[in-house]
Amino acid sequence: MFLEQLNLQHFRNYIQEEIKFTNNKIILLGDNAQGKSNILESVELLSTLKSHRSTKDLELVYKDRFFGQIKATVQTKYADYDLSITIPTKGKKELKINQEKVKRNFDFLGLINTVLFSSLDIDLVRGAPEYRRNWVDNLLIQLEPIYYQLIKNYYHILKQRNALLKQIKKMGINTAEHLQQDLRAIELELWDKKLAEAGSRISRRRARVLNKIEPLAKFWHNQISNKTEKLIIRYAPNIYSENDSPESVQNAIKAEIEQKKTAEINLGNTLVGPHRDEIEFIINSDIARNYGSQGQQRTLVLALKLAELQLIEQIVGEPPLLLLDDVMAELDLNRQRQLLDSLGDRFQTIITTTHLNYFETNLLNQAQIIKVQGGK
Ligand code: ATP
Ligand code: MG
Repeated sequence: MFLEQLNLQHFRNYIQEEIKFTNNKIILLGDNAQGKSNILESVELLSTLKSHRSTKDLELVYKDRFFGQIKATVQTKYADYDLSITIPTKGKKELKINQEKVKRNFDFLGLINTVLFSSLDIDLVRGAPEYRRNWVDNLLIQLEPIYYQLIKNYYHILKQRNALLKQIKKMGINTAEHLQQDLRAIELELWDKKLAEAGSRISRRRARVLNKIEPLAKFWHNQISNKTEKLIIRYAPNIYSENDSPESVQNAIKAEIEQKKTAEINLGNTLVGPHRDEIEFIINSDIARNYGSQGQQRTLVLALKLAELQLIEQIVGEPPLLLLDDVMAELDLNRQRQLLDSLGDRFQTIITTTHLNYFETNLLNQAQIIKVQGGK
C-alpha cells in the first residue's frame, strides 16, 4: 500500500497544505510543536476513523473554523482510492470514497491500513487495561471493519443498561431479590440478554485475534531480547466459558451477571462484559505491567508493533503503512537497527523526528525528507 498524497484543510495547525509522498521512507523533520504528529494523526484517522490523541472532533479542527478536511490518494494492490473525511466541529463526519458519499462508517475502513508506533505506546504495557483493549480494538477495526459497528453497538447497550441500573438504584432497590418484585427486573433482563449477545461478539473476536498475534509477537520478542525471555499473551475476560462458541460465551456472561447483579445495582454500573477485559503480557511468568523493567517494556512494545505489521500484512494481503512518531529517540541503537532491518523495503514508513542524527546514512540516502514548520 502506498500513500501518494495528503491534503489537509483546517486540520489541527494546517490551514491548507498539500503533501506529496514520493518514497517508501519519509522523514518529517521539524522542531517541537510544528505539526509533524498532526500529519501522522490525519493518516491514522483515514485508517481507523479514530485518533489516539483525541476523542473530540472539535480538537481536530483548526481553531475557530467550522470544519476540517483530510483528503488522500492511496494506491493499493486492489485499486487506487481517493479518500476524504470532512470533520465538522459539531455533528457527524462525512466520508467519501472516490468522490462518493459513504453511508456506513465501516465501509470506509480497511482501505488504508496503518500501524502507528509512538512514544506514548509504552502505555500499552505500563498503562491501564483500557490501553490494551483499545490496541486490540484498533487492530480488529482494520482487519474486520464490521467490528467498528459491533463495538459501537456494544457501548450503546452498555450506556442504556447503566442508565437503567442507576434508575433502579435511585428507586431504593438494593438487592437482586428485591428487584424481582419490580417490573424493571424484566427490562433489565432484556438488557442483560443484549449485553451478553453483543459482548460475546466482541470477546470472541478479541480472543481470536490475540491467538493469532501471540506467535508473531513471541517470534519478534525472541529476536529482540536475544532468546533469554519467554513471552505469553493472555486474554483475561472476567468470565468463564467452556469453549468459544457464541452460546457458551453468552451463557458465561449471563451467569457472571447473575452473580454480580446485587453489586451492579448498588454501584449503578455494569461490572461484567468486554469493557472490563484485561489483556496480560507475561514475561518469564511475571506480568510485564507490574514487574517489567523499562527496557523490557520497550522491547515488548516493539515486538508487539512488529507483530501487528506482520499480522495485517498476512490477513489483508499487503503491507500496511507504518507511522513512527518520535520513537527513534526512545530506542537504543540496537533496537533501532532491529526495527529498521526487520522492516526492509516492504512497508511505506513515515517517521517524525526533531533531528536527523538518529538515522544511519543508508536510510537518509533513501528517504524523502520533508521539513515541517508552523503548519507548513
Ligand atoms: P513534537 O516534536 O513536540 O511532537 P509536533 O511537530 O509533532 O511536535 P504536533 O503535535 O504535530 O507537533 O502539532 C502541535 C501543534 O499543533 C501545536 O502547536 C498545537 O498548538 C497545534 N494545534 C493542535 N490542534 C490545533 C487546532 N485544532 N488548531 C490549531 N492548532 C492546533
Ligand atoms: Mg509530535
